[in-house]
Amino acid sequence: MKELKITVKRITEYKDLMEEYENKIEHTCDMRLGQEFIINGLNKPQGMCDSAWESMLPFVKTLLEGGGNFYDGWMKNPFSAMISCNDGFRPVSFYIERVDK
Ligand SMILES: [Zn+2]
Repeated sequence: MKELKITVKRITEYKDLMEEYENKIEHTCDMRLGQEFIINGLNKPQGMCDSAWESMLPFVKTLLEGGGNFYDGWMKNPFSAMISCNDGFRPVSFYIERVDK
C-alpha cells in the first residue's frame, strides 16, 4: 500500500472578510503549522480539517493508487500536490507527498 505524508505548510486568515461576512464560530480550522499526518488509506486522519480533507481527497486517492503528475507538470515532485481547504476566509495549504519507497 502506498503511504502519504500531509504537512501543514501555511495558514492564512483574511480578517477583513471574516469581520464583514462570517458569523462567529468556535472551531473553524484547527490546523497547526508544521502538523503532519501519515495516511495509507482513504479515512480522514484524526484532527484533519473537514473542508481540507474534502478538497484533497481526489489527489490523495490518485497518489495512493500510485498516480501523480497532476495538471501535466504542476509539481516539481510529480508524486505530490499542494492543496488548500475550501474555507475562503482562512485557506490552509497542505503539502501532500508519497513517502513509501
Ligand atoms: Zn481548513
